[in-house]
Amino acid sequence: MTESPLTGVLKSGEAFTNEELFARGQNVIPGGVNSPVRAFRSVGGTPYFVTKGQGARVFDVEGNSFLDLVQSYGAIIAGHAHPHIIDAIRSAALDGTSFGAPTPREVLLAEEISRRVPSCQKIRMVNSGTEATMSVIRVARGATGRDRILKFAGNYHGHSDGLLVSGGTAMASLGIPASAGVTANAIADTVVAPYNVVPELDETFAAVIVEPCAANMGLVLPAPGFLEGLRAECDRVGALLIFDEVITGFRVGRGGAQQRLGVAPDLTAFGKIIGGGLPVGAFGGRGELMDNLAPLGPVYQAGTLSGNPLATAAGLATLELLDDAAYELIETRADCLAGAFANAFTAVGIDVKVPRFGTLIGLYFGDTTPTDYESACRTNETMYASFFHALLARGVAIAPGAYEVMFPGLAHDDEVLEAIADAAALAAAHVAEAR
Ligand SMILES: *Cc1c(COP(=O)(O)O)cnc(C)c1O
Repeated sequence: MTESPLTGVLKSGEAFTNEELFARGQNVIPGGVNSPVRAFRSVGGTPYFVTKGQGARVFDVEGNSFLDLVQSYGAIIAGHAHPHIIDAIRSAALDGTSFGAPTPREVLLAEEISRRVPSCQKIRMVNSGTEATMSVIRVARGATGRDRILKFAGNYHGHSDGLLVSGGTAMASLGIPASAGVTANAIADTVVAPYNVVPELDETFAAVIVEPCAANMGLVLPAPGFLEGLRAECDRVGALLIFDEVITGFRVGRGGAQQRLGVAPDLTAFGKIIGGGLPVGAFGGRGELMDNLAPLGPVYQAGTLSGNPLATAAGLATLELLDDAAYELIETRADCLAGAFANAFTAVGIDVKVPRFGTLIGLYFGDTTPTDYESACRTNETMYASFFHALLARGVAIAPGAYEVMFPGLAHDDEVLEAIADAAALAAAHVAEAR
């Protein structure tokens, strides 16, 4: 307690425990958190309140430190508080934080995104991944003059009404809302289909939106031919293909999943990494599609803080660190990490699958690699929770939910990887004993 990093941060010198903060938080914030997964509901227990991050580590209010594979759910790739990114944010902040006028870095960031992702000739910045997918759908509808969209069960595209449709228990074609407060009208034009099966479309569809590699139901890779099939089916009926690269963009390679997989969408949504840890999103596509946006066209979209000077500075600084060598390095590390997790469970006789896509890693408790939402849901969540806590007790943080993925990055060097591998072996043994 005496070494609590928070003491240095708060002028009052007030020291907290995680329990106290969570209790106080629950009085004034629903569930004590500003995004549901953080509340630890699916793994049980009390969340750790972070005071500080440094590279691969996060520190909590009680002075504990964890090797962090959450990395802000993929918003961080260079490690916490990377000096190059922090310097960029600091110097941007000194010049003012928001103007309501265009700023130079908006142009530079759009140019850089476009260089890396050639399908995005034009880009518009927004403030979250949710905004990016919501707006890109509006562009697709405006451009085609059609209403319906198709999404895949288990793909997450943020929390806007029209995209918040479960494919889980609800009959997909009925479009039952997953969330209270989403009206039947809001999702009447959203059709849900199983991942990895090319659906048959017709001329009523404006667009198909897809995570080119699904990373919100654990990690589910696209089956060979799936994305090519989607491309062909969209072309057949004149629907637009939208890739949601909010996670995969600038994560699995310089040009995202579309470059890696060799399928070009019409429109793409981004978020997470391009904000370098600040609130951001973006979407882009061919010039003639994007020019449907106001002020050029009739599709309205706007944002007081969009293209924010701090966020664009952080995004540019992050991309500066991400050359081909950086991705190769992270991919080697991801491979090593995936191997360590697989070995840890093999050693104790527990069936796991550890799928990997480039730099992304999933973890399923079961004996078959999932291909869609239904099979992904067969993971043993109790075992995940047990492993989560056993790892946390040994100083390693993975996400407090069985359907999240792991995000190794530039800060996860050999020493960190070894420490994680050791902790994973011990934690897996604990899971085996507790079973
Ligand atoms: C995180 C995520 C979003 C939503 O982004 P927010 O910034 O949380 O609104 C959308 N799509 C995918 C694939 C994501 O992983």
